[in-house]
Amino acid sequence: MLMKLHWFSRAEDRLDAWVTRQHQERVLDGRTAPVGPCPDDAFLESVARQSKQIALSDPRVDHAANCPVCMRRLLELRSQHQSRRRRLVFTAAVGCCLLIVAALVVVSWRGTSTPRSADNMAAIPETIDLSNAGTLRGLPSNSAELSSLQSVSLPAALVKVKIILPRYSRPGQYTVAVTRDQSVNDPLAHGNTTSIGSGDREEVSVDLDLRKSRPGSYFLSTTHEQDQASYYYPLQIK
Ligand SMILES: [Zn+2]
Repeated sequence: MLMKLHWFSRAEDRLDAWVTRQHQERVLDGRTAPVGPCPDDAFLESVARQSKQIALSDPRVDHAANCPVCMRRLLELRSQHQSRRRRLVFTAAVGCCLLIVAALVVVSWRGTSTPRSADNMAAIPETIDLSNAGTLRGLPSNSAELSSLQSVSLPAALVKVKIILPRYSRPGQYTVAVTRDQSVNDPLAHGNTTSIGSGDREEVSVDLDLRKSRPGSYFLSTTHEQDQASYYYPLQIK
């Protein structure tokens, strides 16, 4: 039934279109006699836009429907109106596409920003050269002695520290710690590592988590597993 109705309305539309075309041809050929003067362009534009403000009983509608000049102008305006609508639809479609692309970019940016922040979590490489550093073994006798020592600095971050040990350091297992004072008890951070090197140059590499450390003065200590004596170097956490 619905199919039949649909077919019927399609057939009716075709008939309407045919009648309209026949009428248009007659008008454009000048075989009709329009009544009254030609209405202004604004009026014809309203008709072309099928504005609801235009009453079909308006004598200007009857004139336009029978005047070859008005009919030509009407057809022109209608095609302009239709292409403008097509452009609007196209613009809206392009706008939608751009929005989708923008959304995808944001999503993918967020996607890549996650591993990027994970990269931030990766240890920052730092090198501390203690090859010529003096050391403190036990408490310094005065502040001048302390300030004469080479001060090293590390950021308050997760750092991967490579320490070039003082010359003639022994190879082997080391404990590296960051302490508040010259005591290995309760270090802020520490790690165990085996030194690598040859001859008079030994170095150790260790990860130290200093993210919870407040900036200030600390000590960096190195302790050889067999020596058990700790060497302290003034350390600034920035
Ligand atoms: Zn006219």
